[in-house]
Amino acid sequence: MTVYLVGAGPGDPGLMTARSLELIAAADVIIHDRLIPASALDGARPDAKLIYAGKEGGGAQVPQSEITRMLIEHGAQAAIVVRLKGGDPFVFGRGGEEAEALLEAGLEFEVVPGVTSGIAAPAYAGIPVTHRDAASSVAFVTGHEDPDKPDSALDWRALAGFPGTLVVYMGVGRLEGIANRLIEGGRSPDEPAALVQRGTLPDQRAVVGTLASIAQLAVDERIKAPAIAVFGPVAALRSRIAWLERRPLHGVTVAVTRAREQISRVAARLRALGAEVVVAPVIRIQTLPGPVPPLDSYDLICFTSPNGVDALFERIDAAGLDTRSFPARSRTRVAAIGPATARALRAHGIQTDVMPAKAVAESLAEALADVPVSRALVVRAREARDVVPEALRDRGAEVDVVAVYETVVEQLDADQIAAVAAADYLTFTSASTVRNLLESVDGAAWLTEGESRPRLVSIGPVTSAELREHGLEPDIEAEDHDIDGLIAAIVRA
Ligand code: SAH
Repeated sequence: MTVYLVGAGPGDPGLMTARSLELIAAADVIIHDRLIPASALDGARPDAKLIYAGKEGGGAQVPQSEITRMLIEHGAQAAIVVRLKGGDPFVFGRGGEEAEALLEAGLEFEVVPGVTSGIAAPAYAGIPVTHRDAASSVAFVTGHEDPDKPDSALDWRALAGFPGTLVVYMGVGRLEGIANRLIEGGRSPDEPAALVQRGTLPDQRAVVGTLASIAQLAVDERIKAPAIAVFGPVAALRSRIAWLERRPLHGVTVAVTRAREQISRVAARLRALGAEVVVAPVIRIQTLPGPVPPLDSYDLICFTSPNGVDALFERIDAAGLDTRSFPARSRTRVAAIGPATARALRAHGIQTDVMPAKAVAESLAEALADVPVSRALVVRAREARDVVPEALRDRGAEVDVVAVYETVVEQLDADQIAAVAAADYLTFTSASTVRNLLESVDGAAWLTEGESRPRLVSIGPVTSAELREHGLEPDIEAEDHDIDGLIAAIVRA
């Protein structure tokens, strides 16, 4: 029975701490704010109770007293309650008040700091809040209070005299007043000032001006909350240090159509290169339960996808068995269609003996040409091409095919379709993603009409052929037919 006051960081899911992810995965109850990364709750248990405690659609904030009441109520009942807040819980996050309330209620609590937006948003904009030559101290200030209010708790004139960077949270609406007070307090109107809106998120925007110009700049550039304001010479360093914009896929939107279970890895890689990713899960992998094939009766076992590996191991696990069901390496060879499949095998403790240079069925059949085979097992999806089994049978081998999973089409909703259509690139990682997307959205007209249609990126010749069959011409085809190859092709383009 512990309540954890946890910071979720400023927005980029990569800036969530390892501890926060651990607690989210373990929590019985999660009470969260609005300004947390969109994917922050993805790792929560399916049976966890998720409670939203932010502003409803820009309306009234759930009152703090109500949040505290919920924390105490759940804290007294559930084993692990996570109070998840944007940035850091103790930096303008009312975490201090919540901790005091829990203390009074006699409940155990722990605090998990988060990356605060006042440091992270400037950092992502290329602004170091301290700098050996430009600022030896930094102050975090709330801009929430009206600077013209006579009884304001904040002494802006005194802050003007602060010898260092001022980082102002919640201040976009009051920039003019704040800048004026600072100038009146003795700061130069020419002092650099910056605003970073939605820092660390894919649509981050930053502007740099001076104390005299920043308020008008914010209006002209339509800077809106959430934004961080930075006052001080360090703000000018953005022109040199800005790094986000230099990443290879900065400003590029890539739609990824894949199985829900497989998207996150591709999406993470694209995001790491600076891309904004539209996630369009058009298929879901459904494992097919069944008996474990008699693995030790084969001298060759072929895997044609990572899903096939995982699904077979699900069967093995369900039967109370483990890797020992696989025969010795000296007796049975294991073939994988490509590196991702080999990786999946290795994750289960199985080494791959045969892998073609190109991850397509024809190349696997070729790579197997010199491998002596009398009895082979092909582990794969229900709907798959027969290239490998046929090639093996042609050589006189006895071949068993076991379908361990199937792909089920998921419908995209109107918002998802609009987001895919607006993307710069639309990726297809298999022929089935082509079929499934078109099935899921009813035809391809929206992909060929209009000037700003996404460019179609195909992972390889089989996928390209499938696109052409539906009257779509791939704009780009990857040279290496795997995810790395696909991403490299987009970067080159
Ligand atoms: N506890 C949070 C701050 C909450 S106060 C933290 O440590 O970051 C809310 C204010 O935080 C917003 O008005 C804005 O000034 C700032 N903020 C939060 N997320 C931000 C982001 N991604 N980019 C810029 N400012 C952000």
